[in-house]
Amino acid sequence: MTPFSIQLDVDLTSLNTFGFAVRAARYAAITSAEQLSVFLSNNETTAQPLDLFILGGGSNLVLTRDVDAVVLHMVERGWAIEREDSSHVWVRVAAGEVWHEWVMASVDRGWMGLENLALIPGSVGACPVQNIGAYGSEVKDTIVKVNAFDRLTQTSVELDGSACHFAYRDSIFKHSFLYDAKTQPRYIIVGVVFKLLKDVSQWQPKVNYGDVAIMSQALADAQAGEAKGVLTAKHVAQAVMAIRRSKLPDPKALGNAGSFFKNPVVAADVVERLKKSHPMMPSYPQTDGMVKIAAGWLIEQSGFKGYRDGPIGVYDKQALVLVNHGGGNGELLMAMAAHISDVVFTKFGVRISPEPIVY
Ligand code: FAD
Ligand code: NAP
Repeated sequence: MTPFSIQLDVDLTSLNTFGFAVRAARYAAITSAEQLSVFLSNNETTAQPLDLFILGGGSNLVLTRDVDAVVLHMVERGWAIEREDSSHVWVRVAAGEVWHEWVMASVDRGWMGLENLALIPGSVGACPVQNIGAYGSEVKDTIVKVNAFDRLTQTSVELDGSACHFAYRDSIFKHSFLYDAKTQPRYIIVGVVFKLLKDVSQWQPKVNYGDVAIMSQALADAQAGEAKGVLTAKHVAQAVMAIRRSKLPDPKALGNAGSFFKNPVVAADVVERLKKSHPMMPSYPQTDGMVKIAAGWLIEQSGFKGYRDGPIGVYDKQALVLVNHGGGNGELLMAMAAHISDVVFTKFGVRISPEPIVY
């Protein structure tokens, strides 16, 4: 087992995609599940838990202050096939694997299921936390097991899909804490097992979002010989990547955490009322009778697209994305978010709330 060391007073600026300059009182990079369980069993009991903060790629976080806790940075890499049959493959991936690299490794091998989720920043260990989703796919549909350390029982556990209580951008991991203050997460995810499709005859591409169908088919049509016109999961991933690059800021160039607000899901009569005054408002009926409204549209209609107040602003190509132009901090960002939410509420009577985890 790699020796374990805790560093003091560590700069987290490059470890959160907003690029906010905050520090961690203590920091440790966790390079294996074994290292984690030895560290926890030596240092905490259920009655006396440590103050921990679990960090992946830092791409769904707003750090409003220094982190006065032990930051455990989940960096274990690697993946291995657990088993396969004629149609599927089961692959266990370590929590610190970079999500997009894992997606591309899977599509390069001809495996299907993750293609619509290409280019989402962050780590594999965080993908179950908010059941990441994009372009009509949700990661829950490929997850068969989540391996985690359960701090309540101080044991390693395996949660299957139903135990994870996956929902729209939500899971049990956002709601399980050690005590009522809700600051100490119960589960630390060390790995995820995915079940992906190998048999192309069973593949049903999800291409109903925006230009995904047109762009992926154009890539398929550009191939030579027998492959010409044959759509693959890799084409869908490449189309999604091209669309994302054209609409979303690269956090390395402009600090952001992707969509800042969740899309509100409201009762059908609310949408009916809104459509009387805003007939062009996009809305997406859900299977349970509720209706999803695009938060980005509400914000754009409220006049915030491209808005800027000092270092913090709203991205000019996508109103759902708040950005740090440089030198901003989490407090300023949360103040702007509250202002935007209030203006949207006054105009539409619908409350929008942040998606990232706020510390
Ligand atoms: P972090 O930000 O490090 O952590 C997020 C939360 O998960 C924290 O509460 C943290 O404590 C917890 N956590 C992290 N790792 C673990 C672990 N191993 N065990 C237990 N808890 C853990 N999200 C989408 O769903 N769809 C998108 O299309 C999408 N697009 C994005 C585009 C951009 C440009 C950006 C910047 C973000 C986008 N996001 C999107 C949000 C983000 O990328 C995802 O939520 C991602 O899964 C976060 O992963 P992370 O490793 O960076 O998590
Ligand atoms: P978009 O295509 O402009 O669409 C705006 C919103 O309408 C999206 O949020 C999406 O909801 C919804 N929508 C669009 N087409 C839909 C359809 N055919 N059926 C049902 N709902 C539909 O969105 P975008 O901002 O460019 O993002 C594209 C995709 O990437 C979306 O799925 C989005 O969630 C995802 N994304 C997520 C983040 C993040 O940080 N969470 C960041 C960037 C992109 P859904 O969000 O429910 O899909």
